[in-house]
Amino acid sequence: MKTQVAIIGGGPSGLLLSQLLNRSGIATVVLERKSRDYVLSRIRAGVLEWGTVEMLREAGAGARMDAEGAVHGGCYLASEGAMFRLDFNALLGRNVMVYGQTEVTKDLYAAQDAIGATILHEVDDVALHDLATATPRVSFTQNGQSHELTCDFVAGCDGFHGVSRPSIPAEVRHEFEKVYPFGWLGVLSRTPPVRHELIYAAHARGFALCSMRNPMLSRYYIQVPLTDRVEDWSDARFWDELKARLPAEVAADLVTGPSIEKSIAPLRSFVTEPMRWGALFLCGDAAHIVPPTGAKGLNLAVSDIHYLSEGLIQFYAQGDPAGIDAYSERALARIWQAMRFSWSLTTMMHRFPDSSDYDRRMQDADLAGLMRSEAAQRVWAENYTGLPY
Ligand SMILES: Cc1cc2nc3c(=O)[nH]c(=O)nc-3n(C[C@H](O)[C@H](O)[C@H](O)COP(=O)(O)OP(=O)(O)OC[C@H]3O[C@@H](n4cnc5c(N)ncnc54)[C@H](O)[C@@H]3O)c2cc1C
Repeated sequence: MKTQVAIIGGGPSGLLLSQLLNRSGIATVVLERKSRDYVLSRIRAGVLEWGTVEMLREAGAGARMDAEGAVHGGCYLASEGAMFRLDFNALLGRNVMVYGQTEVTKDLYAAQDAIGATILHEVDDVALHDLATATPRVSFTQNGQSHELTCDFVAGCDGFHGVSRPSIPAEVRHEFEKVYPFGWLGVLSRTPPVRHELIYAAHARGFALCSMRNPMLSRYYIQVPLTDRVEDWSDARFWDELKARLPAEVAADLVTGPSIEKSIAPLRSFVTEPMRWGALFLCGDAAHIVPPTGAKGLNLAVSDIHYLSEGLIQFYAQGDPAGIDAYSERALARIWQAMRFSWSLTTMMHRFPDSSDYDRRMQDADLAGLMRSEAAQRVWAENYTGLPY
């Protein structure tokens, strides 16, 4: 088999890259380890920056998002009972779109099908070869048969546990990591969201987030110790704990119901540098992980694809490698800004097991400063709604 760009991973970053390249006449093959149903069953991100919205439109995959997604012009921050609305539309004239990652992925698959793109599912043993040469290869198996794909470039869009990042020699990679001493227990329920917009709540019992996917699908999270297991949390215990961490008037309005998904995700920040080695480019979670607090994971995957697709299109259309040569540096500059925002929001809103009274006062002062200062709110809103590409 032969193609121009081999894409490892059929999550949002791999599918979006394939879609944008195909629409510019560049041939791709996507290799995905799991079945399509499995990929579409994963419940993950839900808040899209406006740059992400525009990228999906540009890819021809934005129609259902525009029809069914909810535009939010603000969100709420709460602390020990006090709550205020951060109005990013009034501050900056900018919005975010609430539309689930599952739906984004579904729309990208539909767009890829419509243009006859090649996506191979349930491939195993993917290995990358000769990445430092002009003739890289990807070997894999499917239905017990061995295959080889030759290409010009490989895009590693295979998430944190994929094969692409470890294919870069260890002595070349510089990895930065911060692991937080807690996780998020998330519950999805077929209930109306407690408020039209998201609520980020700091509380002595731990952080809580009220989010949503649509008017009858709510996503709630609470901070839990890393030692907790999903089995420790009955639905009733979850709802009681969530209510205890929310302002009383919000808790009174909370509609509870049976959970349809419940999971615990640990929180970490991770970045690998560089994001290019020879013919290999790393994109999305393959190169970086943010704690979900700032809603940046999916959005960063999309901004990586913006820079890489632009560079590859420039290379194939004009023979100019400037865009692909600058890819790692351009993507990392934006990634570190999002890392800083996600880290600062996580630090401000969570209870750390080893924090002192002084640390807690610093958290309170941070939040009070944000409530009081319009200048601080502008900076926050600029980061939350998404920095420019
Ligand atoms: C539990 C969870 C909750 C999250 N919640 C949020 C949130 O609320 N907000 C937010 O902004 N972000 C969230 N994220 C992050 C967000 O979902 C990711 O940033 C986003 O999925 C990144 O897209 P991606 O395509 O780079 O990686 P992925 O979505 O991980 O896709 C990678 C794909 O590669 C495939 N793959 C892996 N290894 C191989 C291989 N060896 N060969 C072939 N294919 C392979 C995988 O099956 C997968 O389909 C969450 C992530 C997780 C795990």
